Amino acid sequence: MSKSIQELEFSNKQLENELHELKQEAIQNETLMRQTQSRQLDLLTTETLPDLLRNLLSNLRDVYNLQAITLLYVDNDDQLAVLLERHHLSLNDYPTMWVLDEVKNFSPKYAQFTSPILGLVSESEREFFFGDDHPESQNLSQDKLKSCAILPLMRHAEKIGYLSFGSTDPERFHKKLGTDFLQMLATTVSFCLENVVNRERLVLTGLTDVLTGWPNRRYLQQRLQEELARMQRKMAPISCIIFDIDKFKNINDTYGHPVGDEVLRSISSRLRKTLRYGDIAARYGGEEFIIALPDVKLAEAVQFAERIREIVEGHPVPINDTQNVLVTISLGVACIIPEWSEKSMAYAMGELISEADRHLYSAKSNGRNQVAY
Ligand code: GH3
Ligand code: MG
Ligand code: MG
Repeated sequence: MSKSIQELEFSNKQLENELHELKQEAIQNETLMRQTQSRQLDLLTTETLPDLLRNLLSNLRDVYNLQAITLLYVDNDDQLAVLLERHHLSLNDYPTMWVLDEVKNFSPKYAQFTSPILGLVSESEREFFFGDDHPESQNLSQDKLKSCAILPLMRHAEKIGYLSFGSTDPERFHKKLGTDFLQMLATTVSFCLENVVNRERLVLTGLTDVLTGWPNRRYLQQRLQEELARMQRKMAPISCIIFDIDKFKNINDTYGHPVGDEVLRSISSRLRKTLRYGDIAARYGGEEFIIALPDVKLAEAVQFAERIREIVEGHPVPINDTQNVLVTISLGVACIIPEWSEKSMAYAMGELISEADRHLYSAKSNGRNQVAY
């Protein structure tokens, strides 16, 4: 049976309305997605805990125009307090962040969720914003908060906390809003938190080089042996790149030691950005660095070494307003699959590093600014 014109018009109107709604949602989602990408970059380049917390707890709130934002973080050994102490800060300086002993004891309703939940604020959501210890944490009376997004923070399938966004607008976080961008943000935040906490711990335990911020030789020796053992079990290769600045003594002699320091800092900071999660990088000696690449074959490591060489050569280091110093490096690359028979990983490590070092020596004697393997 055919529909009457009236019915058709009505159904057309309905479709138009739906389309309009969908379009509005798409626009809203796209704007949020774009904002999220640039915020993620900010987060990923943050190096210290106070900077990360400022980024999360104030910058995000301002950028997304939220009335409330909180971070709940699982910290059963009080390391956060210890790490903040190094910056002369304490947990009291962060009333919108609180630490949890165990995630399952907090909000059993939300304990099961691993992806963002959006919706209206009721009793069970309120506890994400107004903790017992921090009732005044938001400068906002509790009944003004209308809608929220609760983002579970996951690392390696384990919940490490929640980041929660609250708004006085009941329409702000509704079930139909795409959660892709919030999921992406949650993943980034979890990664950054783990990364920054690890880094701060390294500084605290004396495993980081103060000048460059790279891990030091002691750290490399510990981590490399762990990775060698892991690769032995997996029967997978591990590659090692060792590099040394060319004629660095000349730079010190020509421009002075502080400029030499600046060159070291600048190169290591630039190269840090090329590293992937899982690479082990360290300042091995004065102007000598090592990057160990677990589960990477020789050919791939040589390619990576060549990229590093090009990056350093392609970015002269500015030493004042008018002058740049041209810097080059020489690199040696080696790769091994740790043998089953190998009992001592310290021995395997010695072999790997000395082979890479022998190639570095060849690169130097063949004219420098090159990769040898
Ligand atoms: P090559 O191309 O053969 O490596 O020449 P080079 O001049 O780099 O080699 P050499 O090993 O003779 O010199 C390394 C210099 O690096 C000597 C040392 O004073 C300097 N150096 C080591 N650590 C630091 C540091 O932390 N800061 C500064 N400014 N210089 C350093
Ligand atoms: Mg040198
Ligand atoms: Mg040297």
